[in-house]
Amino acid sequence: MSDVVDFKLPEDALCAALRERGQRVTPQRLTIARVVRELDTHVTAEQVLTAVSDRLPGVSLPTVYATLDLLEELGSVRRVSAGGGAILYDPRTHPHHHVVCTRCGRVTDIEAPVDEAALIAAARAAGYDPERADTVVHGVCAPCRS
Ligand SMILES: [Zn+2]
Ligand SMILES: [Zn+2]
Repeated sequence: MSDVVDFKLPEDALCAALRERGQRVTPQRLTIARVVRELDTHVTAEQVLTAVSDRLPGVSLPTVYATLDLLEELGSVRRVSAGGGAILYDPRTHPHHHVVCTRCGRVTDIEAPVDEAALIAAARAAGYDPERADTVVHGVCAPCRS
C-alpha cells in the first residue's frame, strides 16, 4: 500500500508522490488534480473534462480517466461507486460514507461510526482480499421529495 498523500497539502506533495512512482509531473496532471480539488464534490470524469477544457484545450476523456486513476493510486482522490452507474471521484480522501438519492443520483457525504473491521472480516471470510470498506445508504433526497 502506498502512503496516503493528503490532498489538502500543497501541490509539491503531489509532485513528490508522482516522482516517487516514477511518474512524470506534467501540467496536465497538476491541472486535473487542481480542478478536482476546486470542484470540491463528487464528480464524474465527464464533469472533470468539462471543467478543465478551458485550461487544457484538446484534452481527451481517456486522458482524464487515466489521470484520475493515477491520482487515485496516489491517494489524491477516492473512487466512489455509488451504485448509479457512473464512477464518481471524490477529492475528500478521509474515511467517510455516502448517501445516494435513488431518483436524481445526488451523492452526499455522511459521517457515522461503522464497524469497518467487521465488514472487512466478512469480506475476507467470503474469500476476498479486502482493501477498504465504505458504506452507501440509498434513499430519496429532500429536493426530490418536495
Ligand atoms: Zn434526489
Ligand atoms: Zn465523499
